[in-house]
Amino acid sequence: MLWNSKGKPNAFLKVSYSLLAKFFFFAIAPFFSITAATVVLDPGHGGRYLYPYRLYGDKFDKASGGYLDRYREGARERGIYESEWMYALAQRIKSYLDKTLLPKGHSFFKSLLARYGKAPSKIKPVRSFLSRQPSYYVNYYKRREDLNEDFRLFDYENWRTGEKKLGTISRINSYCPELVVTLHLTETKVSPKGGLASVITPGYTTFELARQYIMAPENERSSFAQAFEKTPYANWFISEGGYNAWQSFLKDAWIYFTGYAPEKNGLHPKSWRGLRHNLISWSYAEDSEGIERPLWQIEGRFWERERSLAEKWRREGGEEGYGGDNFFASQQLLRFIRLGLFLNKVDSARSLPEIFPPYISTWAVPTFVNAVSAYLEVAHLGSKRDFQRISRHLEIYAQSISVGIYYLFYPFPLHQIKIQDRPLPKGVDFDKYREYPGGNYFTAVGPCWGMNHGP
Ligand SMILES: [Zn+2]
Repeated sequence: MLWNSKGKPNAFLKVSYSLLAKFFFFAIAPFFSITAATVVLDPGHGGRYLYPYRLYGDKFDKASGGYLDRYREGARERGIYESEWMYALAQRIKSYLDKTLLPKGHSFFKSLLARYGKAPSKIKPVRSFLSRQPSYYVNYYKRREDLNEDFRLFDYENWRTGEKKLGTISRINSYCPELVVTLHLTETKVSPKGGLASVITPGYTTFELARQYIMAPENERSSFAQAFEKTPYANWFISEGGYNAWQSFLKDAWIYFTGYAPEKNGLHPKSWRGLRHNLISWSYAEDSEGIERPLWQIEGRFWERERSLAEKWRREGGEEGYGGDNFFASQQLLRFIRLGLFLNKVDSARSLPEIFPPYISTWAVPTFVNAVSAYLEVAHLGSKRDFQRISRHLEIYAQSISVGIYYLFYPFPLHQIKIQDRPLPKGVDFDKYREYPGGNYFTAVGPCWGMNHGP
């Protein structure tokens, strides 16, 4: 008899329901809820540079129905395609992290951690997702109408059907991740020894120096330029020939605030480049459709977010002295790569790739996600030694980054190894974002519809 006379489930069934609920929370929930650490692995690029970029590029401009920027297909060096190799790296990292999800993978994962330190007795789950599909040449014929369809960073409309499509940044945010690990290779020329570097974007207070400079009367401007020189960001990334760091910073600040690239003096708008925070699907887009937007508008949801404490934590100050948790998380993972190369005897303590100063600019992924963003240049392909390392030892990069990701969530004591730039004995404080006033900062980025896709 399952139902009592009043048509309600009897005690036996009630017990079963509660058992079922318990089973859900302890056995199934780690896969389908935010109780597990959630990471998006974000291999760079994936599409192809095609001319003309108005038809095939990235940053879709609704007003003109074309793209505002060329598609950036990434580095290529002697048979190594960045987009393909970073996809393979992300897949391998995921296959390691997936070992944390089921008890039968725990002993394997523990033995991996044990190479780096004293492995914890209990492995905790780290769920990971990839931000994109394999690069365009997989399923080339199926894709040939629009090779960049699945690889644009920003949202766009299908040119034939008008259907709205999500870009990679919106897809990342749909998982409401706590950590995003972006993986790139670069062709930037460095010493033959090669090296590793973080990619970071500063917070609002730094960009505000540019806005103040532009707004100020001419005779008061120089104080803001001098203030910028004193910040840790003065070594700004130079993306345009003939520009210095200050001019590059001004240009990027214009794009950040107004969507316009300025003239070289940084005082007047020149060309429309798109207001990036409105080119993605998330809870901070401005709903100013049809309303003339003031050029220097700094009110509204996105700008409140930019000036929030959480963004300050992500992008300013912190363990490294600047760059916030984003820079700290990035540097920790780079230190784990060094540790991995040393422990696996790829390098001696002296031949290890050094960690270069970060690439600082207004990069899209670290700016437009609420997760802690670790953005890594894992090798400089122009360097012979780096080329060898990445082409022969991709598995060691995958292992060390996986261990590093686990460590950022759940730090454990590392072996005392005498090399420079060892990981600092500390993880990222994710709880301060989870317990953010007004609700979990990671899930505030938008509806988390990607969460239930499963690993
Ligand atoms: Zn790249």
